[in-house]
Order: sequence, then structure tokens, then C-alpha cells
Amino acid sequence: MNNNILRIAIQKSGRLSEDSLKLIKECGIRFDNGAGKLKTDATNFPAEILFLRDDDIPGYVEDGVAHLGIVGENVSEESNRNVDTVHKLGFSKCRLSIGVLREHEYLGVQDLEGKSIATTYPRLLSQYLAANNVTAQIHEISGSVEIAPSIGLADAVCDIVSSGSTLLSNGLKEVETIFRSEAVMIASKHLSEVQQGLLDQLLFRIKSVQVAKN
Ligand code: ATP
Ligand code: ZN
Repeated sequence: MNNNILRIAIQKSGRLSEDSLKLIKECGIRFDNGAGKLKTDATNFPAEILFLRDDDIPGYVEDGVAHLGIVGENVSEESNRNVDTVHKLGFSKCRLSIGVLREHEYLGVQDLEGKSIATTYPRLLSQYLAANNVTAQIHEISGSVEIAPSIGLADAVCDIVSSGSTLLSNGLKEVETIFRSEAVMIASKHLSEVQQGLLDQLLFRIKSVQVAKN
């Protein structure tokens, strides 16, 4: 493997994609963004861009298959992969929250005791419950979490919220925020000296872009 280039993994298509590409371009890195491509070479910086599902990015970075990745902190933390979070990127801000049916009276986190909670974030949820001395049943599902209470699958949900409109349209109210997230840059723990130097250059450019915006 070439230890003199940076392989940067970003989400192929989703809520992180556009801003991830924009950030790389704003850093002055040019590449041919051919539609449908899974990998592309930068033309003026020793880097390659990989286009992946966001959930796969922390694992690729841990293994060193990718050297850098852009993901939501929520996904990185949930994955529990051994990577370095090197910079917060300021976009894709959202929160991981617990929601219950609107008609349920909810007084506090102890009301979740003995309840079932549907989520795609079992690790972050179980940490939160343990920290609050609550024992609840975690029902892990891979999507369409918000529908769970109205169809009787679970008493509550724990899912990503930004405006809250998805919760509302499923008859839910947001009762606890357990994690605040934004896009972050993660890095492999096994960078060569050259790669560390390239990362430093890239971080310098990212910080300059961020300063110019504020
Ligand atoms: P993939 O197909 O790559 O697995 P996905 O459906 O899991 O994609 P997206 O919905 O594109 O993921 O969300 C990617 C990330 O964007 C989330 O993990 C979260 O960090 C952030 N995010 C999610 N929803 C919102 C939102 N409504 N507003 C802003 N950021 C969000
Ligand atoms: Zn995903």
C-alpha cells in the first residue's frame, strides 16, 4: 500500500455527502467527481477519495484502509472503533433523542424504567440509561424507528432528530436529548510520517476555511 498518500472516506450519498465534498473542494483539493464512482484521485494533492456508506467509514479508518473519514459523531461513537477524532467540522448538526407517544405523561428519565425503546443506537442508548440508573429493554432495529410506538413495537424511540418534524408526524414528543452531534474528521491511528504531514496540511486548510466563514 502507498504510504505517501491520504485516502479520505466520505459518505457516498446522504446527508453528509454534499458538505463533505464542499469542504474538500474548499481546501483547494481538486478531483474528478465522476458520477457513480467509488474512488477518485485528487489531481493536485496526494489524496484519494473513497465513497462509502457512512456506517462503514469508522471501520475502514480503524483498519487503515482509509486514513481519514468524515462521519457524524453519532455514527463514530456508536461504532466504538479505535480511531482519533481530529476535528469538528460544524455541519450536519443533529441530536440523538428519546421520544415517547405524545399522549403519554412523561415526568423524567425514571419513567423509562422497564419500558422498551427502539433504536439504531444501542450502544449510546445503553450508556445513557446506565448513567441514569434506568433499566429498559433496548430493541435494536435498522430503520424506520419512529413508527415503533404507534404500531406497538416499543414504548419509546431513541433516534436522530434535527427539526423534530419526523417525531411529530409519528405522534411522538421529544423528551430527552442524549447526544449532540456534528460531522467530524476521524483519522487512523497508524499514519506514516508523510501521511501525518499531509493531515496537518489539510487541517490547516480546513481551519482557514472555517475562520474565513466566521
Ligand atoms: P448511508 O446510506 O450512508 O448509510 P444513512 O441513511 O445512514 O446513510 P443519513 O440519513 O444520510 O445516513 O445521515 C448521515 C448523518 O447525517 C447522520 O448519521 C447524522 O450524523 C447526520 N444527520 C442525520 N439526520 C440529520 C438531519 N436531519 N439534519 C442534519 N444532519 C443529520
Ligand atoms: Zn448509514
